[in-house]
Amino acid sequence: MIELKGIRKQFGDHVVFDGIDLSLDRGEIIVVVGPSGTGKSTLLRCINFLETPDAGHLTVGDLGFDVTGATREQILALRRRTAFVFQNYALFANKTALQNVAEGMIVVDGMPKAKAYAKAREILERIGLADKADAYPASLSGGQQQRVGIGRAMAANADVILFDEPTSALDPQWVEEVLGLMKRLAAEHQTMIVVTHEMQFAREVADRVVFMDQGRIIEQAPPAELFSQPKDERTQQFLRKIL
Ligand code: ATP
Ligand code: MG
Repeated sequence: MIELKGIRKQFGDHVVFDGIDLSLDRGEIIVVVGPSGTGKSTLLRCINFLETPDAGHLTVGDLGFDVTGATREQILALRRRTAFVFQNYALFANKTALQNVAEGMIVVDGMPKAKAYAKAREILERIGLADKADAYPASLSGGQQQRVGIGRAMAANADVILFDEPTSALDPQWVEEVLGLMKRLAAEHQTMIVVTHEMQFAREVADRVVFMDQGRIIEQAPPAELFSQPKDERTQQFLRKIL
């Protein structure tokens, strides 16, 4: 239901990747790991056109198109189907938790405000922040801010949520509450692609772990298999460093 075919991205002369193929089924949870600078963030960003891919074909749900010559309508439709959770939360500082969660439903989906706020309240309830509806980001802990970031992605009702190192900017004490929320989404079969260094999370939650190195998908397998029997020397080396 999500398929990347032959995706290429370069910045100037630097080709980050060329020919990335990746597919996942509805409800599947993929964790992407790999050394720094390998193109993990760029790949996620290409999936929702935060970066414009230079070549390839993208399919998300019932939407599929060649990335070269993508129309504005196709890009907007893609963004509706893909939600992004950023490392640094990227909340609107001048909006409350409730407004942050409701914003996309009002602006992107054109939902009437009252309905959007009612839905946003339901989401705050689900993420355990009902009592923080009127709080501004600056008065929330890092963990709470990231839960709002995830709440905003939940509000988008997207086919897939893309997480780029959602816990790596957090003080250690807030990591578990964010991973816990992600685990709950996983248990509800939310399709997600997660770039993270949290290997315990990968072990527990991922259906498949994808190892990238230097712009290539080197291998992918269920976590138990990839972590215990990595086939490629590069995967072995990487895992020796982080496990
Ligand atoms: P990390 O684990 O450190 O987050 P990453 O795997 O996410 O690394 P990317 O951020 O995708 O790596 O970067 C891949 C390559 O593309 C790097 O060489 C990086 O310098 C380069 N790059 C990323 N974004 C840009 C940009 N906007 N302009 C130019 N080069 C970029
Ligand atoms: Mg990155």
